[in-house]
Amino acid sequence: MKSLMITLLAAIIMCLPVHATEVSLYSADGREIVVKSEDEERMRAEGWYGFDEVYTALYSEDGRAINALNSRIEEWKSVGWYENIADVQTMLYSADGRELTVWNADVEAFLQVGWFRTLEEVQTTLYSADGREITVWNADVEAYLQVGWFRTTEEVQTTLYSADGREITVWNADVEAYLQVGWHRTKDEVRTVLYNQNGEEKAVWNAEVDAYLAAGWLREKQRPGIDPNRPMVALTFDDGPGPYTEKILNCLVENNAKATFFVVGNRLKTYSGQLKREAELGMEIGCHSWSHANLTTLGASAISSQIKDTNNLVKELTGVYPATLRPPYGSHNAAVRSAAGAPIILWSIDTLDWKTKNADSTYNSVMNNVKDGDIILMHDIHSATADAALRIIPALIERGYQLVTVSELGEYKAGGLGAGQVYGRIN
Ligand code: ZN
Repeated sequence: MKSLMITLLAAIIMCLPVHATEVSLYSADGREIVVKSEDEERMRAEGWYGFDEVYTALYSEDGRAINALNSRIEEWKSVGWYENIADVQTMLYSADGRELTVWNADVEAFLQVGWFRTLEEVQTTLYSADGREITVWNADVEAYLQVGWFRTTEEVQTTLYSADGREITVWNADVEAYLQVGWHRTKDEVRTVLYNQNGEEKAVWNAEVDAYLAAGWLREKQRPGIDPNRPMVALTFDDGPGPYTEKILNCLVENNAKATFFVVGNRLKTYSGQLKREAELGMEIGCHSWSHANLTTLGASAISSQIKDTNNLVKELTGVYPATLRPPYGSHNAAVRSAAGAPIILWSIDTLDWKTKNADSTYNSVMNNVKDGDIILMHDIHSATADAALRIIPALIERGYQLVTVSELGEYKAGGLGAGQVYGRIN
């Protein structure tokens, strides 16, 4: 081992003076000569050059390199060699953010094992609900999605609508603030369907509703045969449905008249046939609570379920969700008005039919007091009331009254009724 070391050392020492005093020069056509250093300048003057002046390094796409004579570079290039190393290498990217520079000949193999040519392929732009953008490596996308980032702006933006027909797209984080200053989530909230005298309908921006109403448009489709300029009254029947409801319905149909039935929720399943017929005949079905409770004695959530349970069951059985409320005993307070979600309909003529149970008395209380716009209170669970109704209905028509539902009365007389508002006579 020691002798080998000495031999190597000696070789290095022997080489040094040679390299220090001799130099290789080249002709333009690639011949090499070795000359003493002091002769270099003279030889150069005779057309000899340094290596770099005669040769240029060229590269192949599979990673080889050669030194080509300058005079033959174009020849080499024509068979796939390149002067610039950047021309034979390609930068690739991984989904977890690594970069790699490979020979062009190897690119396809790398693409097959999860490398990509462009940053766009390994990065994804994500969006936050408050309007920020971030570009992350694909490998990290799932982690970001879990902490509140989203792939598309659709997921973090919401289009809102104004009552005068404008649209705006805002970041989800800002939606609540916009809702508070008069923007709405759906077009239905900012448009109202109105009807003209010919029954044509049109959805108009809420901001324009008053102007349309002033021009003669109506909130409800006008019933054929109803003349807004002639007197009308609304017959109302509470506490049903019941065994006498059918009789009253038959009379209404025969006289082409409408009435409103304020029904009690816990009776609906027993008398579902009567309820369905009310709806089929185009009568209005209003809410009269679930158990005929005095709503003013209940808390807010109990009031709400008395109303909603009833309305939901009516909707389930008839397909129509009640649009009016008559609280039992006509009893209401701020909590009831707030929970109503519909106009509160009282009355202007109380027949006291439940008390007298006398058809003559009920008939007289109506016919002696009736005026245009009256809302007349009766109860379809009493036999005497049904008997009275059979006389009252034709008699009112005979006297020139049109028999309409309470919502129709509100429409024709007041241009519509307001939720939580309390109505007696509407004129
Ligand atoms: Zn009642």
